Amino acid sequence: MTDKQRTLVLLKPDAVERHLIGEIIGRYESRGLKVRAIQMRTIDADLARAHYAEHVGREYYQDLEDFITSGPLVAMVLEGRKAIQVVRATNGKTDCADAEPGTIRGDFGTQKRRNLVHASDSPESAAREIGLWFPDLLEQDAEAA
Ligand code: ADP
Ligand code: MG
Repeated sequence: MTDKQRTLVLLKPDAVERHLIGEIIGRYESRGLKVRAIQMRTIDADLARAHYAEHVGREYYQDLEDFITSGPLVAMVLEGRKAIQVVRATNGKTDCADAEPGTIRGDFGTQKRRNLVHASDSPESAAREIGLWFPDLLEQDAEAA
């Protein structure tokens, strides 16, 4: 496949709490993306800080950390053609209230912080985030290469 990419996606604790795991993964799969790795876990502040490194120090950071560590989330690696932009577009704008109907955030939320999903925003952040959440996946690929 040309333009094949991988991206790191989180179904945040609000999505899990609201029983939206199946609905959201179904949207990615229906679009043609492949689930390459998946895991449910509750993260600690260290991983939250590493994942959201660029947000540490912002006025909303502590709120964001409290939210993302508040309960189980589902982390996954999705793969497909132009997966990074495809998933960002499927998720919709950061603030659910601004997100277009038809997107995940536009269909299931109105909040800015509790906005259901995360997705990598560039090839560099995808590589960094996949390394943080699924280090085994990178090792397996290196062995297969
Ligand atoms: P995105 O998740 O769309 O890439 P950002 O990288 O800008 O958005 O922000 C990371 C996450 O931090 C958002 O998804 C949201 O949960 C939270 N967030 C961002 N900005 C704010 C804000 N001003 N107030 C509260 N939470 C915020
Ligand atoms: Mg972001």
